[in-house]
Amino acid sequence: MSHPKKEQTLIIIKPDGIQRTLIGEIIKRYERTGLKLIALKMLIAKTETIRKHYTIDPEWIIKVGEKSILSYEKKGLKAPYSDPEKVGNKVLKNLQGYMTSGPIILMVWEGNQAVGIVRKITGGTEPLVSDVGTIRGDFTVDSYQIADTDDRPIRNLIHASGTVDEAQKEIALWFLKEELLNYRLIQEQILYDVNMDGVKE
Ligand code: GDP
Ligand code: MG
Repeated sequence: MSHPKKEQTLIIIKPDGIQRTLIGEIIKRYERTGLKLIALKMLIAKTETIRKHYTIDPEWIIKVGEKSILSYEKKGLKAPYSDPEKVGNKVLKNLQGYMTSGPIILMVWEGNQAVGIVRKITGGTEPLVSDVGTIRGDFTVDSYQIADTDDRPIRNLIHASGTVDEAQKEIALWFLKEELLNYRLIQEQILYDVNMDGVKE
């Protein structure tokens, strides 16, 4: 197993994040944690790649549907649908349109617990209830209800891998091995060096 400081995760700034001119703001929030950016590109995605991306985990369709139904129950509301698989498939179809509607930015970030740290800063799926201080909580206003009413995916600015396994598969889908740069940031000495050697003159 590689050292924990080598954990990698995939972040996508979705088309709404680009259009809201939040690229700098978003990158800043991940960068200041001490995580290291090791790959970055901007492109307009193909529908097929987006489908592949969201079906890397074959359970995802059901999980998305269940999460959506639960979000209504948590608010004391009845979901407008009851079959998780149906909801999941609809979300997938709508995501393909949303994620190919304009340029996106793909990034790989590396560091201790990169997946968890990035999810924490990104915030929960639904901006209405994402924590204050997270990107989704601070910079947008979407909810399951309005998205479902208009039959579109929730616009929440960012995709971030959910688990280490998901991250590895997603990174392999979007990046060639040689596009992931192997380099050191000087600050890693402070973040990870056992004795913080080299600070005192
Ligand atoms: P994430 O990991 O927090 O991005 O959430 P998921 O992996 O569960 O879902 C992927 C994306 O699909 C979300 O970021 C939303 O853009 C969208 N989405 C997920 N569930 C729903 C839903 O029930 N309704 C709608 N309208 N959009 C959804
Ligand atoms: Mg996800």
